[in-house]
Amino acid sequence: MNSRTVRAWLRLAAVSIQEQRDYLTQLDAAIGDADHGSNMSRGFTALKTWLDTRDDDVAPGPLLMAAGVTLAAAIGGASGALWGTALRGAGAALGEDAEFDGLQLAAALEGALDAVVQLGAAAAGDKTMVDALGPAAQALREQIGNGAGLAAALRATRQAGEDGMKATALMQARKGRASYLGERSIGHQDPGATSTSLIISALEEAVNSGCD
Ligand code: ADP
Ligand code: MG
Repeated sequence: MNSRTVRAWLRLAAVSIQEQRDYLTQLDAAIGDADHGSNMSRGFTALKTWLDTRDDDVAPGPLLMAAGVTLAAAIGGASGALWGTALRGAGAALGEDAEFDGLQLAAALEGALDAVVQLGAAAAGDKTMVDALGPAAQALREQIGNGAGLAAALRATRQAGEDGMKATALMQARKGRASYLGERSIGHQDPGATSTSLIISALEEAVNSGCD
């Protein structure tokens, strides 16, 4: 995998976020302030435009780090800062190499997770994007560690993210706006975990589309 994989990932993520914009906003309307779809869509649209102006010879790590800065500048709300730092964390983990393998991709997802936790201090079970990103990063690490091929490893990663996303419905929010609702946040799927699951699905799609 290389910079083209990263570009394909971010572009596919942007398409998916745009398609699901209204759904993400509906989820945020139930337990937040109904702006998650527009926040994420604005950020990823800006990211797509920005990608068009970048040349291909930027290494994947620095590309992701710069993408994080672009995203954070374009999105308001908690998710702008959180996704900005997530992409920067992923990029920092990849370093300067022009190519990366499954093990490095696992380190990149862990880098994203660590950066989000460092900024937002959410633990597993707090009903945030961490509940999708955490299980996904763990699944990728386990799969690659067990010798799985990239396609199978990313299938399991995407599945773990989706399962984590669905599990947020039963959780009580302890971080972000939804936490103001206390027990009334239970029964609603977390918008940030939902967009995170879409972004992880886009990663699987990008790698499968042979952009590596
Ligand atoms: P805002 O809450 O500022 O309106 P968004 O609606 O765009 O921002 O994003 C809300 C999402 O951000 C939540 O669904 C949750 O997943 C995520 N989130 C909020 N606070 C945190 C946090 N401290 N750590 C991780 N994720 C968080
Ligand atoms: Mg919101």
